[in-house]
Amino acid sequence: MDHPEDQEAAGRLAAVTGRIRAAAEAAGRDASSVRLVAVSKLQPEGRVGGALEAGHRLFGENRVQEAEARWPAFRERFPDIALHLIGGLQTNKVRAAVRLFDVIETVDRPRLAAALAREFERTGRALPCFVQVNTGDEPQKGGVAPAALDGFLDRCRAEYGLNVVGLMCIPPAEDLPGPHFAFLREAARRNGLAGLSMGMSADFETAIRFGATHVRVGSAVFGARG
Ligand SMILES: *Cc1c(COP(=O)(O)O)cnc(C)c1O
Repeated sequence: MDHPEDQEAAGRLAAVTGRIRAAAEAAGRDASSVRLVAVSKLQPEGRVGGALEAGHRLFGENRVQEAEARWPAFRERFPDIALHLIGGLQTNKVRAAVRLFDVIETVDRPRLAAALAREFERTGRALPCFVQVNTGDEPQKGGVAPAALDGFLDRCRAEYGLNVVGLMCIPPAEDLPGPHFAFLREAARRNGLAGLSMGMSADFETAIRFGATHVRVGSAVFGARG
């Protein structure tokens, strides 16, 4: 905690953690039922180090290559880090992703599900997965179309044997997020899934009200990305 950047990171982290706790309590939920995935993409090393020094261990990255450049060294110092992949995954990066990450949040198509299943089988490292849902049906965005979700989940489990633990979404920037969060919650309930990864810096308190178990918060924890 010797550098100003470390202290700043620790202060921001404590503020976000406090807001998460308050939002959970306001929703009648136990604060420990909401995990903070601190999104460290494009953040300077010092800020991430500050969050680690402050005791945080759960992080999200959206690019395999960027994460590969940074996290193995942090892991040597902090072996109990847990890393979630929250960005789209190309099948040619599956091997690297399975080596580096602990949870894959962005399973969204049969080819990717099959490639992950093969890699899990090959390595004996079967990671928990979230299925990403494109709740706004946006053409440029990753995620399974809402209409195809139940069928895709059946295939992930029956055909590929994936350990699907929840659903993840990124609502359209121009929409109110509540209806998207409500949709995701209902889809998870219908499919017997406990995990709900939803809510970012601008809307994580709303997401907690709608049942988020994992909020993915970047700029509110680390400051604006460079
Ligand atoms: C960048 C990112 C976040 C965090 O965004 P902030 O607005 O900085 O909190 C969350 N989820 C995903 C998928 C992201 O790519």
